[in-house]
Amino acid sequence: MQVTEIYKSLQGESTHAGLPCVFVRLTGCNLRCNWCDSDYAFYGGRKMTIEEVLHQVEQLSPTPGLVEITGGEPMLQERELLPLMQRLLQQAHTVLLETSGERPLNKVPAGVIKIVDVKCPNSGEGDAFLMENLETLTPRDEVKFVLSDRADYEFARDFTHRHGLAGRVNAVLFSPAFRKDATGARDSSQCLLDPQELAEWMIADNVPARLGLQLHKFIWDPALKGV
Ligand code: SF4
Repeated sequence: MQVTEIYKSLQGESTHAGLPCVFVRLTGCNLRCNWCDSDYAFYGGRKMTIEEVLHQVEQLSPTPGLVEITGGEPMLQERELLPLMQRLLQQAHTVLLETSGERPLNKVPAGVIKIVDVKCPNSGEGDAFLMENLETLTPRDEVKFVLSDRADYEFARDFTHRHGLAGRVNAVLFSPAFRKDATGARDSSQCLLDPQELAEWMIADNVPARLGLQLHKFIWDPALKGV
């Protein structure tokens, strides 16, 4: 499989935010979100066998822990990814799969926690989510919306209600997008949508979702990779 990087940091998002986590970032993505902060994973990387990936994960997490498979879009490498996730589960890791949900998710092993990033209109990839994937969501999974304006918020709010997401998954996350070129200040001035404004909308509408901030961008320079 083609791998951009494997590293250990703190999980910055989802209900697992704040926990130590090994990240396996696979190379390649078929989408081009306007605010993408992982475009360095579109090309390049290095070819690794499943055994080599497992070995590197073991070096970073010798005992069972949290492992996130991310990208790019990891499901583009489904053929190798599915057995890799099975092996990680067999080793008793908690496995998170970060995906746009643009590819079918029905073959993802049941033990994997899917973090499905449903793209909002202002991402430029608003129609990417494959609606059949709603049926693959389980009470272990999480659905995330990255928001950059009021139209994105209304899309996420309406999608959450229309598809009863709060009753399907463990958490629905509304997360303000960060500026693509954010660097320096580690604060919410780098967000495309002010978290305070988003919080007020969520409270006013009583949305069954939780506000998610990308923790790592408040700990380290938002431009830093590998954290
Ligand atoms: S799906 Fe993820 S990696 Fe791909 S362009 Fe969008 S944000 Fe970037």
